[in-house]
Amino acid sequence: MQVGIIGGGVIGAAIAFELSQYSPYQISVWDGRSSVAHQWQATGAALGVLMAALNPKLKGKHLQLRLESLGLYETLIPQLEAITGTPLPYNRQGILQLCFEETELQGWHKTQQVRAKQGFQLDLLNRDQLLETYPQLQTAHLLGSQQGAIGAIYSPQDRQINPVALTQALLQVAQINGAEIHFKTPVYDFQTSAKDDFKQVDRVHTDRGDVAVDWLIIAAGLGSMPLTTTLQQTIPLYPVLGQALHLQRKTPTSAPIPVVTDGGMYLVPISATDVWIGATVEFPTAVGGQIDPDPHQLQALLEQAIALDSTLAAAEILRTWSGLRPRPHERAAPIIETLPGYRNVVVASGHYRNGVLLAPITAQKVRQLLSNSA
Ligand SMILES: Cc1cc2nc3c(=O)[nH]c(=O)nc-3n(C[C@H](O)[C@H](O)[C@H](O)COP(=O)(O)OP(=O)(O)OC[C@H]3O[C@@H](n4cnc5c(N)ncnc54)[C@H](O)[C@@H]3O)c2cc1C
Repeated sequence: MQVGIIGGGVIGAAIAFELSQYSPYQISVWDGRSSVAHQWQATGAALGVLMAALNPKLKGKHLQLRLESLGLYETLIPQLEAITGTPLPYNRQGILQLCFEETELQGWHKTQQVRAKQGFQLDLLNRDQLLETYPQLQTAHLLGSQQGAIGAIYSPQDRQINPVALTQALLQVAQINGAEIHFKTPVYDFQTSAKDDFKQVDRVHTDRGDVAVDWLIIAAGLGSMPLTTTLQQTIPLYPVLGQALHLQRKTPTSAPIPVVTDGGMYLVPISATDVWIGATVEFPTAVGGQIDPDPHQLQALLEQAIALDSTLAAAEILRTWSGLRPRPHERAAPIIETLPGYRNVVVASGHYRNGVLLAPITAQKVRQLLSNSA
């Protein structure tokens, strides 16, 4: 069965990897970017924070997707590492969220109980426990000030992964399993036919020629919207911009550190000296409108990070960047469904702020959609 996947970001790559493990599928991935290492879109901008357990929600479909996907990472990472022979930068130190109000910390008790039943641990730390466990946070201005953190929630099972390294590994293993990966190959049109009440895509038109498909997966991030428009079933997506920074400390930190967040901003340790800080959330003024990175928001992010860790004031800024998150318009993220009116087209897109976290479960859901329709 020929399966065409449009998009080789983290979502398309996870789907290619997942399907490549099952014999009925012959997979082709097409991506318009120049190579596996260049011109990344949303995936190249992501911080790779995999935050599922540390979520105040007690139940719901989206929470379930997050928790399941986080669980899948625990077997996915060793599997990819074993096949490629290359370790992946996967931070198993958990995520620490600082709390600034006593009521906020108390509110987590109920979530802690529910998560325990779901198989996830959350530790509630008072201020003394926080400083004892994470002495490096003594440098936090926020802890010393009147409005300092009064405690924290620590989630040992949440994770962080380098999104680019992950995506490259997923594509590499998919290729080892027989998938064909084509870069510099934008898809721009389709040949369709109709049977009974449904249409189907028979051929995909790329710059390098036409290819016959039995199934088409649209996993093209923001590029999914124009593709669905070409199929006359527009799925509206709009970009939400995020900016981030890469800083290098002068002195290395000694202890392995978790991702630390104040609820809005994330400090993501990359090594003993290096840290990513992100990310702003900047909306277009109108749907379809252009968004330019706002330098004031980047500066505010940096100040927020220094308030959390004063050693960052002397750190060197190695890089700043921005990216566009694909957000569905007037519906919840993500979209994982057959395209309305089509028998053999699946859309896996609109993952907004959690595409890296949700990539493994998205790939499983896509495989289920294909096998249920067989
Ligand atoms: C600053 C920032 C921080 C983030 N942090 C996190 C985080 O910590 N955790 C998390 O889970 N998520 C995070 N995200 C969100 C995450 O990046 C996205 O949800 C995810 O990368 C979406 O992946 P994707 O594969 O759908 O899209 P993309 O990565 O955009 O990939 C789509 C691919 O499709 C290709 N394409 C598009 N159109 C065509 C076409 N017509 N033909 C061929 N190819 C095409 C593009 O070239 C691209 O490679 C962050 C995002 C940003 C911007």
